[in-house]
Amino acid sequence: MRRGLKERRVFYCGWLIFIAWTTFGAWGNASAESEGRDLSAVPKQALQGRVVCLAEEMHRNFGTHLPTNHLPLYGFKTKEGELYTLLRTKLSEAIFVDPRVRERELILSVRVLPKSRLLDVVTIKSVKDGVVHDLYYYCFICSIRTVDPAICLCCQEAVEFMETPMGKSVP
Ligand SMILES: [Zn+2]
Ligand SMILES: [Zn+2]
Repeated sequence: MRRGLKERRVFYCGWLIFIAWTTFGAWGNASAESEGRDLSAVPKQALQGRVVCLAEEMHRNFGTHLPTNHLPLYGFKTKEGELYTLLRTKLSEAIFVDPRVRERELILSVRVLPKSRLLDVVTIKSVKDGVVHDLYYYCFICSIRTVDPAICLCCQEAVEFMETPMGKSVP
């Protein structure tokens, strides 16, 4: 009888340790994972500069090999000469598909992704004649503003490129 009780106690203790380990262990993992995915902790910053092809920029700066027909590798060169790689997302799509956006001097609101030089673009503005302009696309049929340079998701018609002054001057 006594022995059975002792064994039972050992069993329960072991079981409790197992439950605690799985529960708290899982919580620990879950919080570590969500921390890794949560970008709201990464501060946004404004970068002013121009879109460049990094393959050409590296070729110019360091003489790296530049194939004759290379695919553009879009990056951002700040006024200070810092280079970043642009991550293609829904919000940065316009840079990749619309040459009008690439031609302009831009102010990007970005998050520099941790442990990288990759830019996660939040907003795109241009600098024209020293004034900050809002860049976006507009469907005049549906009166919808969008960051997407493709057709209007609502009426399937073409959207119009818009560049409107925001009244802020830039030195
Ligand atoms: Zn290139
Ligand atoms: Zn529309």
